[in-house]
Amino acid sequence: TSVHCGSLPDEAATLALGGALARALQAGVVIFLQGDLGAGKTTFSRGLLAGLGHAGRVKSPTYTLVESYPLAGLTVHHFDLYRFADPEEWDDAGFRDYFGQDTVCLVEWPDKAGDLLPVADLTLELEVSGQGRTYRLTASTETGQSCLTRLST
Ligand code: ADP
Ligand code: MG
Repeated sequence: TSVHCGSLPDEAATLALGGALARALQAGVVIFLQGDLGAGKTTFSRGLLAGLGHAGRVKSPTYTLVESYPLAGLTVHHFDLYRFADPEEWDDAGFRDYFGQDTVCLVEWPDKAGDLLPVADLTLELEVSGQGRTYRLTASTETGQSCLTRLST
């Protein structure tokens, strides 16, 4: 299937989803993270980075716009575009150059860059539900589809 849904009763479950996706990922993948402030986008990114072998802290890129993590074999770029006032900032910052076959890019608030972003392989939508969260993970490319297949098996 090209969609994967479920519930995340607590923070540990959001971290675990990131860890599970880390094991299913391949270099070059672009993931958009959708959801309101506090939905769990950065928490998910933390779980994914830990799953890829990052042992240190994961700082929210709210003020820096991007935090980069050089890991074994690939670099993860974690963007948060919440503070973008204008999509043009994407080009001005040179962020296009961060995408490629040797990186994994996670983007919080991708809509803030309008249509300037590369296409997402996977989109994770998080929603608050009671004390926990629900999620929907959608693949929009063949690469994203392969990741979802590995996630399910
Ligand atoms: P965002 O990056 O979407 O603004 P954060 O990842 O910073 O959100 O998370 C905001 C808060 O939500 C954190 O305190 C985090 O522990 C909590 N949180 C994350 N996932 C869950 C979950 N599944 N259930 C309950 N709380 C969660
Ligand atoms: Mg965040």
